[in-house]
Amino acid sequence: MMRLSKGTRLVVASHNPGKVWEINQLIHPYGLDAVSAGELGLAEPEETETTFEGNARLKAVAAAQGSGLPALADDSGLEVDCLDGAPGIYSARWAGSGKDFGLAMKKVADEITGRDGWNGSGPRANFISVLCLAWPNGDVKTFEGKVFGNLVWPPRGGNGFGYDPMFVPKGDTRTFGEMKPEEKYAISHRTRAFAAFKAAMLDEISPGAASDEAETRDIAAFSAAAASLSTRVEAAAFIERLKDDLAAHRQDWKNATLESYLDALARALGRMPASEEPAWRQLSKAMLAASSHD
Ligand code: IMP
Repeated sequence: MMRLSKGTRLVVASHNPGKVWEINQLIHPYGLDAVSAGELGLAEPEETETTFEGNARLKAVAAAQGSGLPALADDSGLEVDCLDGAPGIYSARWAGSGKDFGLAMKKVADEITGRDGWNGSGPRANFISVLCLAWPNGDVKTFEGKVFGNLVWPPRGGNGFGYDPMFVPKGDTRTFGEMKPEEKYAISHRTRAFAAFKAAMLDEISPGAASDEAETRDIAAFSAAAASLSTRVEAAAFIERLKDDLAAHRQDWKNATLESYLDALARALGRMPASEEPAWRQLSKAMLAASSHD
């Protein structure tokens, strides 16, 4: 299968601006140029498959066929052992049209109670993320990442999103909702799937740029932190971390003077897509973008 080379235009097969932004941040250091399926006017296919891999594949293939470009799609969710893997591919749908994850978590807890599953250190569960890269010639490759742990009730912590406040990863006592975004990012299913994708598809792309990035700024970790913050306090902590990063890696900042940074920030805010995300998160994303883009 062809690897992705520097300068390749890659379609991110999602209409979710937050997801597109995150994937763009992850692939940016490799010289890839991401464009979203939405920007290209591609229709969003219905997720009719019965597995994560099937749905990721369906989205990536539709975008690759529709655009004539390689396309990357992801599908993710929570699997609970004693619920035979539910909510699984229906993880987002359990939150209803109002995307109420308080409700979705309660539904998971009630289902577990119905199966008498609350015992020992809590029911076993895992998050899973599947990435699929599809080429217009029909080639397809998938990459999977999982993180295992136990569920707790009631939910704890206000960080992260979705089912994070009821999931304790193996080896820790805190829920994902109680961890700092970068702590979750270091072990998350999405990070693991992306690492597999990177190793197989991106390693040969400007290796200098990739390894320099690792030794210098960890943009991916910053981007994960921005993508999962919600509150004013978290935004303030994020700005503190940006400031420390500027002190440590000034040479890697695209806009390291106040004037150029403010210019870039104004442009980044102007470019932000309309989004239902919390305003503090959008602001933090723009602040990060201003440090690394024109
Ligand atoms: P999709 O991959 O966008 O279809 O949605 C997956 C759903 O799985 C999300 O809406 C969340 O409910 C859940 N999910 C996926 N990853 C995570 C995570 O890292 N933390 C919490 N919930 C997650």
